[in-house]
Amino acid sequence: MSLFDWFANRRKSPPIGQEQQEREIAEGLWTKCEQCGVLTYTKDLRANQMVCPECEYHWRVFSGDRIEQLIDPGTWQSLDEGLQPTDPLEFRDRKPYRDRLREYQEKTHLNDAVQTGIGQIDGEPTVLGIMDFSFMGGSMGSVVGEKLARAIERATKEGLSVIIICASGGARMQEGMLSLMQMAKISGALQRHRAANLLYIPILTHPTTGGVTASFAMLGDLILSEPKATIGFAGRRVIEQTLRQKLPDNFQTAEDLLTHGFVDAIVPRTELKATLAQLVRWHQPPQPSAPLVLSEPVPVVEGERG
Ligand SMILES: [Zn+2]
Repeated sequence: MSLFDWFANRRKSPPIGQEQQEREIAEGLWTKCEQCGVLTYTKDLRANQMVCPECEYHWRVFSGDRIEQLIDPGTWQSLDEGLQPTDPLEFRDRKPYRDRLREYQEKTHLNDAVQTGIGQIDGEPTVLGIMDFSFMGGSMGSVVGEKLARAIERATKEGLSVIIICASGGARMQEGMLSLMQMAKISGALQRHRAANLLYIPILTHPTTGGVTASFAMLGDLILSEPKATIGFAGRRVIEQTLRQKLPDNFQTAEDLLTHGFVDAIVPRTELKATLAQLVRWHQPPQPSAPLVLSEPVPVVEGERG
C-alpha cells in the first residue's frame, strides 16, 4: 500500500466513532460503569481498585485481586490450597454437582469459593480469608468452612488478628446439612479466637447473605462494609412475598444497616488497606518493655582521689 492509499484509507474510516468505541469496550480496553454509564480506561479503573472514579461504584473483584490490593507484595503465604470439595450427597440438579464443581474450578482457577492465608497489611502480619463470589456465588460448602476454621485456628495459635472478606449467596445447597454445619464450626473457632483476646474483623461486600450473614459475617469485634453492599439473610423478594408488604428502597443496604448499628463503619475500598492496618495496630497486645541497659560504671583511678 502506498503512503497515499494509507492516508486515503485513514480519511475513509471515522476517527473515534460509535463503532470503534463499542469495539474497544468489547476488547476490554474501556469499561462502562454499571451505575453512572461513564467510560473509564480499564487500566485506570484497575489502578483505582475497580472503583469508578466518577461515581464510586464498587465493581466486584476476584479474591486474587483482593490479595493484591490488601497484602504487601511478597508477603502472602496461602493456607490449605490443596483442599478439594467432594460430593457426599451425589447431588444432582440440572447437572451433577461434581460436573458443576469442575466447571467452576476451570473457570476460576480456584478449588473452591475461598482463599485463606497469612500476609502483611502495611507491615502488620494478619490472617486473611477472602470469599470469591465468582465460584458458585461464594456459597459456603465444606471446603469454605474448613479453610476458614483452620485459618482462624492458626491465627489463635500465633496470636494474630483475623480479617474475612465476605461475599456470598449463603450456604451451598448441593452439600445439604454439611454446608449448614460450617456455620457452627467457624463460629466455634471464632469463639476460641475471641477467648484469646484477639481481633476479628469481617468486611461485608456485595452481596453478603444467607448462612454467612447468619454466622461469621456478624460475629466481628468490628464489622466493616463496602459502600452500597447488599447485606441480609433472606432475599428481598422472599420477605416481600411473606410479609405482603413493599420494602423501602434502601432495605438491606450497608448504609441502612449502619444507621441501625449492624455495621460499625462503611469504608471505601480505596481506603480499606490503610484502615485495616490502623485497626490491627491499635489492637496489638501490649509488648513487654525492653530491659533497661545500664551504661558501664566509670572506673575510678585510685591515685586521683583527694
Ligand atoms: Zn460510575
